[in-house]
Amino acid sequence: MTNLNETHDPSLKSWLASANEPSIGFPVQHLPFAVFRRTASREPFRPGVALGDQIIDLAQLASLKPFSGLAAEALNTCNAPTLNALMALGQSHWSALRLALSRGARDHSPSQATLEQVLVPQAQAEYSLPAQIRDYTDFYISIHHATAGGKISRPDAPLLPNFKWLPIGYHGRASSVVISGHAVVRPVGQSRPAQSGQMPRFGPSQRLDFELEMAMFVGRGNAQGKRITIDEADQHIFGLCILNDWSARDIQAWEVQPLGPFLAKSFATTISPWIVTREALEPFRLPFSRPDSDPQPLPYLMNESVKQGGVYDIGLKALISTDHSRAAQHAPALLAHSNLCHAYWTLSQLITHHTVNGCNLQPGDLIGTGTMSGPHPDQALSFNELSVGATQAVKLPWGQERMFLEDGDEITLQAECVKPGYPRLSFGQATGKILPAV
Ligand code: CA
Repeated sequence: MTNLNETHDPSLKSWLASANEPSIGFPVQHLPFAVFRRTASREPFRPGVALGDQIIDLAQLASLKPFSGLAAEALNTCNAPTLNALMALGQSHWSALRLALSRGARDHSPSQATLEQVLVPQAQAEYSLPAQIRDYTDFYISIHHATAGGKISRPDAPLLPNFKWLPIGYHGRASSVVISGHAVVRPVGQSRPAQSGQMPRFGPSQRLDFELEMAMFVGRGNAQGKRITIDEADQHIFGLCILNDWSARDIQAWEVQPLGPFLAKSFATTISPWIVTREALEPFRLPFSRPDSDPQPLPYLMNESVKQGGVYDIGLKALISTDHSRAAQHAPALLAHSNLCHAYWTLSQLITHHTVNGCNLQPGDLIGTGTMSGPHPDQALSFNELSVGATQAVKLPWGQERMFLEDGDEITLQAECVKPGYPRLSFGQATGKILPAV
């Protein structure tokens, strides 16, 4: 692993005790970004970095001018309600700021007193979208999700022939991306007539679903007409968050052909507040390989870096609570778990493929991976797969059953990096509760 540096040293500890607590998951090796303010205050939203159970207020830190060089330039962009300006600076600046924050947050740092002045407890914070998201693309890179979904709609040919040659994606809706905690109103729309020739059904979706995905925030963009090569792709990824692509399966089934998803997806997409930088994930990279029976990626999508470490080992979990379970004080139930390592394509391949036609990415663009289901039935990260197209009810531990989401249901998505000998990195969570249609 050649991209490790002193910020990844697993032996580093912080002067802040909660940063050294594995259950909290925000150690000094982590340093993810969010945009926050004190809950229900009139303060401006501004960038912060998680450390233990606290947030380092980067806007306030910038006013103290503790850093020099590239780190100071990077910190100076943080007096803003979004991270777009920081994202636009590029990897050298992000790395310099990470190194400066890491050195300041370590045990025996001479900057301890400075950083202590700008800490805000996470328990007192609320979050906004971390960037102005001008474009949102959603990919479809789990072969297990694609095959399971395909079996339901096309039992004879579940996987379409293009899947193994290119990362399938579509243009999502940026305006309806919301931060964790926002309620989601059940969408209304058309769905397929009961018999062909009849009128379509119209009303609240009866097959409302979640999809557990990871997403990337684009850092530095590219000029229109200029491709991002596979060698350059990693440097354009600012970081990752959790994404819930809420999906109305009945609306989707009726509208999806021939141009792809539209109103079945565009009503809401929930993301987690913390962006975990790509640099923080370096210790969790794994080699990329394809079965011998599958085609190898075309040369524009392969290089040595992809081969050696294109895959990220990030554990994923989906949990549910209902009106009933919360009233009875049951803990949320685990629906499924999986890992980003099951992706058929790498994150760098998505960036390169997205721009191969000259399409320009911009700082703050959001790029979803698609539902990250794994190979086993309990690794299915949507109700459509868990209920096998609404043919097998999912039993919840408190006695209720679900084919799809009902009003009052709340989905919580979590992600974490766990590896022996290295501190645990938490991604936090993305939650959303379903409100009745209006
Ligand atoms: Ca999706």
